[in-house]
Amino acid sequence: MIGGIELGGTKCVLAVANNPLDIIEKRIIPTKDPYSTIPEIVSFFSNFNISKLGVGSFGPLVLNSASADYGLLITESKKNWKGTNLVKEFSKINEEIAIDTDVNAAALGEYHYGAGQSSETFVYVTVGTGIGAGVLVKGEPHIGNFHLEIGHMLIPNVDNFRGVCRIHGNCFEGLASGPAIQARWGVEASELSINHEAWKKEAQLLSFGIVNIISNHSPDKIVLGGGVMNQKHLFELIRLNVEDIWKGYTPLGNISNLILEPALGNNSGIVGSLSLAL
Ligand SMILES: [Zn+2]
Repeated sequence: MIGGIELGGTKCVLAVANNPLDIIEKRIIPTKDPYSTIPEIVSFFSNFNISKLGVGSFGPLVLNSASADYGLLITESKKNWKGTNLVKEFSKINEEIAIDTDVNAAALGEYHYGAGQSSETFVYVTVGTGIGAGVLVKGEPHIGNFHLEIGHMLIPNVDNFRGVCRIHGNCFEGLASGPAIQARWGVEASELSINHEAWKKEAQLLSFGIVNIISNHSPDKIVLGGGVMNQKHLFELIRLNVEDIWKGYTPLGNISNLILEPALGNNSGIVGSLSLAL
């Protein structure tokens, strides 16, 4: 049996499985502070005999396995978690741990088992409480010197909106995440009607980011997941906007084959976290 932990900023998904698509038991708990959430996670796995653990976590965190700080959360991106070493904490469950960012894990899930199969350069973008993206080149996450932080790139801010990123204000996440929609329109994104002008704005902002991703990585598939992307009408708006902004500078092919829905639905992250354990 393998174990998987998808540690997100809002919720944490825990699973025990025979393989990533054959989950035996799954539990979703809210991500509170580390003092209460970590013991709850450790307790869930205590009933199972796990051979290896895969963890996909929010960051920024140290991914260099040669470092003494491997698994350390280094920034206060979520209150109280800075300084928590996830590898040390989760070694109480099993010493055999593979850890990556939550978006790299979700990218791996979709690449191996979902909409990213048979792609050369694959990008998974999550749009929810925050924005993040994992880039896989031939199935391997592009880590770079630390790891990518695509959610914190800068995009045009045409109406000078203040933005909600705790660190930068009006970065991509600060302008286009779920909390940014709520800050801009005064209601939760899920409560906005399908015809509300907010969606046109949201599609434009997401398209700015996606065009930057295309410019930087030239992916053959981009999957858009996360809570905001459960608004399925956004996909067509985004495809039109991306083509409009890119202006055929390089061929994008059939845009419907480039910008895709996740084939694993809301399970990309936990399936990918489990696949890290293999
Ligand atoms: Zn930011």
